[in-house]
Amino acid sequence: MKSDYTSPERFTAEAEFDQALRPLTFDEFFGQEKITDNLKVFISAAKQRGEALDHVLLTGPPGLGKTTLAHIIANQMGSNIRMTSGPVLDKGTDLAGILTSLSEDKHKPPEVLFIDEIHRLNAVVEEYLYSAMEDFRLDIMIDSGPSARSVKLSLPKYTLIGATTRAGLLTAPLRARFGITTRLDYYDADTLFEIILRSAKILGVKISKEGAREISCRSRGTPRIANRLLRRCRDFAQAEKKLAHSKGIITKKVAEYSLNALEVDEHGLDDMDKRILHCLIDKYDGGPIGISTLAVGVGEEPGTIEEVYEPYLIQEGFIKRTPRGREATTLAFRHIGANPMIRKKTTRKETHNDSDQLEIQPK
Ligand code: ADP
Repeated sequence: MKSDYTSPERFTAEAEFDQALRPLTFDEFFGQEKITDNLKVFISAAKQRGEALDHVLLTGPPGLGKTTLAHIIANQMGSNIRMTSGPVLDKGTDLAGILTSLSEDKHKPPEVLFIDEIHRLNAVVEEYLYSAMEDFRLDIMIDSGPSARSVKLSLPKYTLIGATTRAGLLTAPLRARFGITTRLDYYDADTLFEIILRSAKILGVKISKEGAREISCRSRGTPRIANRLLRRCRDFAQAEKKLAHSKGIITKKVAEYSLNALEVDEHGLDDMDKRILHCLIDKYDGGPIGISTLAVGVGEEPGTIEEVYEPYLIQEGFIKRTPRGREATTLAFRHIGANPMIRKKTTRKETHNDSDQLEIQPK
């Protein structure tokens, strides 16, 4: 079964919702102060010089604000933003089409090109991008066979903003061409609390401070999830007969009821998080096991586990990466109500590991 995070339905419904709630200025963008403070300096310096901002790489798990930041950067620069994504840019000509249509108007700020999922660019397109980023030049082959010829195009100045959930998959030459690289971290509950109150205000949702606090603690450190849970709690407050006494307001009780009904636990772990912990503990006595074994065990792509689920579980101290694979911590055992004493003393030979062993960095 595919997780909720990757289903196409999620993207359409949530994309519209994201759009409505997307902050347009740094003032509305809560948290990540180190990143925003630096960006403000770089933007103001570039504007003073009348130049394009250096290319920016934004990395971090989904839903933390990469697309939002790209819009804010363009907004602050006074630039137009073009959106595309790695898998859409299939051929060199796709990239050439976008780059050559960027505005050359010297009286306007240079445009911003946003490439989401930049780690999914194919190798040929990526190679074209090198000179397009570095020298604002495109040497492109058109046609094939005897009529094949190389065309040199000079490009207007622009800022490329690349976003990726898998920074580790970017090639070194591509990464090196970004002048500004940042990694977004999970948000603390206080920041998510502010985000929820702002979203509630925009959507006209009535929510008590305690209700917002409850949602903020269970949002997996992720604004997109906080906004989604707010939306679901609003549904419960409005339509669940048992909650009629709340009069449509999301109180602490309403939030607790709704989040329990959604099986979001008090640490914010969702169904897939819990399946990962159960797989590690129930089937493999806590591990260590390799990512491929874990992926098969829970029926999810290894990449999705690595980019969506694992970072949060590691940050919250439920699993750890060891040179021999993923291992459940004592906290994880306690969390799912298992006895840590069942943990087997695995020897290196016994480890349920697989070919991905090498990808794990020794501590
Ligand atoms: P990503 O591109 O990293 O997947 P998005 O930029 O699409 O994430 O953000 C998802 C949603 O979360 C958006 O609707 C946005 O409104 C909200 N959001 C993200 N970061 C913040 C923030 N720092 N402050 C307020 N809202 C945020």
